[in-house]
Amino acid sequence: MAMSKLRKTGWLTHEYFFWHDTGNYASSFKPGEFMQPGKHAESPETKRRFKSLIDVSTFKHDLIHLEPRKATEEELARVHSTSHIHNMQKLSENDGGLMGDNESVFGPFGFDIASLGAGGAIVAADAVYKKEVDVAYALLRPPGHHAVKDHGMGFCMFNNIAVAIEHLRRTTNLTKFAVIDWDVHHGNGTQDIYYSDPNVLTISLHQEDLYPRFIGTIQETGEGAGKGFNINVPIPAGSGDGAYKYAFENIVKPAVSKFKPEFIFIASGFDASYHDPLSRMALHSPTYSWMAQEVLKLADEFAQGRVVATHEGGYSEVYVPFCGLVVLEAFAGKSSGIKDSIVEDSQAMTRRDQTLLPHQKEMIDECKLTHKL
Ligand SMILES: [Zn+2]
Repeated sequence: MAMSKLRKTGWLTHEYFFWHDTGNYASSFKPGEFMQPGKHAESPETKRRFKSLIDVSTFKHDLIHLEPRKATEEELARVHSTSHIHNMQKLSENDGGLMGDNESVFGPFGFDIASLGAGGAIVAADAVYKKEVDVAYALLRPPGHHAVKDHGMGFCMFNNIAVAIEHLRRTTNLTKFAVIDWDVHHGNGTQDIYYSDPNVLTISLHQEDLYPRFIGTIQETGEGAGKGFNINVPIPAGSGDGAYKYAFENIVKPAVSKFKPEFIFIASGFDASYHDPLSRMALHSPTYSWMAQEVLKLADEFAQGRVVATHEGGYSEVYVPFCGLVVLEAFAGKSSGIKDSIVEDSQAMTRRDQTLLPHQKEMIDECKLTHKL
């Protein structure tokens, strides 16, 4: 695929993000009498391997390295309740604990690492706003898009993107923000935080009925002044390139064009990949590359090119790095010279899943109709 123009691309990560310790859960299941302890699904490995792939290539020289800082309590409190913040801080000072549900584990020092993640999103957003870079990718842990105001959940302690948006709102003259969430799970936290806000357009493309269960429906469109500014695109399990492109063409592009954001965030999860153990979608790296380029075009048209992606989920240790890489390549407008060694075989195996199927089209059309796009 022909790359779009060259862009100065910020790359933000930190060794501490890989020290966030999710314990000995077996995938997302608590160990017990009949559940052998294992490795938590949200382990450092997927993300570390993404960073490692960049580190062993010359592509790292094409990126501008950004250094995260911790978000302050005041910055976190613009999004989250002080009880949630203090609770996390207190647990973190001892042995760690749970973020607010029964599967999101963190260890000692976990609060500090999550604060560094949220602060990293601020640093990336600032760097783009101040034109130190054109676009930025923040590879951070823990992820953020499930975290609601009063508690963490779904492996997320703080809503990193919301913390960055609230920072920009207070320190710049920007007023309109869009969040495009292509993580395979519903971006419930971001939806919840901005549900009645007409100035933050939240769009979540996710596998229908995956997580959190029973929400993320088309009918959740926002409330009060925010009515119409929350768009859920539940996509049936088994969808691939065809369904995602159809959703982008018919929902994401017209919705963003109508809204005209001044800054676009991508909640960038790679768990809709064919190789992901927590979902049943069939994407490969070329679709992520295409989606990234479409977001950049929208940003060029409305938001002076301003895009920040924060890393969310993605649980295939082998395939996340290749999906992440193509997004970075799309951002930079340059090829890294690294070949996705998995894509050909794997696309061939899922050939029929890559075409838009009638039941997938029906779901996306219903969303389009609901939002009059
Ligand atoms: Zn996810």
